[in-house]
Amino acid sequence: MSLGKAMIHARKPKAAAQGRALPYEHRHESSEPHEGWPGQRVSSAYTMQKPVLVLNASYEPINICGARRALILVLKGVAKTEEEQGAILHAALLRIPMPSVIRLLEYRRIPHQTRALSRKNILLRDRNSCQYCGAVLPAGELTLDHVMPRSRGGLSTWENLVACCHSCNRRKGNHLLSELSDIKLLREPRPFSLHTSRHIMRMIGHSDHKWRKYLYY
Ligand SMILES: [Zn+2]
Repeated sequence: MSLGKAMIHARKPKAAAQGRALPYEHRHESSEPHEGWPGQRVSSAYTMQKPVLVLNASYEPINICGARRALILVLKGVAKTEEEQGAILHAALLRIPMPSVIRLLEYRRIPHQTRALSRKNILLRDRNSCQYCGAVLPAGELTLDHVMPRSRGGLSTWENLVACCHSCNRRKGNHLLSELSDIKLLREPRPFSLHTSRHIMRMIGHSDHKWRKYLYY
């Protein structure tokens, strides 16, 4: 198999089940999921879920979506592939390169603040480190802490949520930081900004060198 001709097995798309047929079909099966580098068979789930950077028509990075969604945007003519993954989707009569970066063909005004406040994004902002003791832990060993406890009126906002290890979370309990002498924030939680958005995109895309030129200036 030559470089860039990876055959991937597309999982039956949800859209087809909903009556919206997609213009590609299954061709090859691959039973071994592993890293998708050019020339290798890659698992469909891995390739279809790989994060894709979405650029506005102006090349400004605006979002990250799964490869499957990115492919639909490209096939609908809404976006164009700017960078390829290396894997190729074999369709009926076509070979479609799987995208790594896509760009919308029409400029969209997107308020960046609308980006979802999620556990995943808070952990990414805080680089998976407990904001009280500094321990860097896998996501599964971190929780979110309300700096001002919910029981005392604290809100779930970017400014009031931090990554926290279970031990610090137990120690802090329902106290205000001002009531505790042995625990303090290593840094103020950053509100969501364009900077946070870029940081999160870099953290998600750090292994994909093709994203770099769009995220680093
Ligand atoms: Zn901690």
